[in-house]
Amino acid sequence: MLSDKELQEFKTLLEERKEQILKNIDASEKEMNSLKSTHVSDEADQATINTDTAIDEALNRKQLQEIKEIEYALFKIQNKLYGICEMCEEDIGIERLKVKPQAKYCIVCREIVEKRG
Ligand SMILES: [Zn+2]
Repeated sequence: MLSDKELQEFKTLLEERKEQILKNIDASEKEMNSLKSTHVSDEADQATINTDTAIDEALNRKQLQEIKEIEYALFKIQNKLYGICEMCEEDIGIERLKVKPQAKYCIVCREIVEKRG
């Protein structure tokens, strides 16, 4: 089990991470908008911009997904469920949480989930 102090540390970590992602999304949206408003004369340039936009959008989706995971982890901290594997209900382990604070599963279960797809 994690101590209250450790929980507090993970809470801070998750909140900081969330803020950072929101900033990233905001910055890339601004960049996208400025690209869209730029007059493009060359067709090749337009193609490049379209590709960049698609990559940005995929990245944003990934980041939004991560925010959801972080919010869920924060919810679990509040409800004293944090750090417990959702599959086997064992402790996830602090070392793993340090690498991925929003982890839902312990290392063993994660492998099972990933194999299942
Ligand atoms: Zn597990």
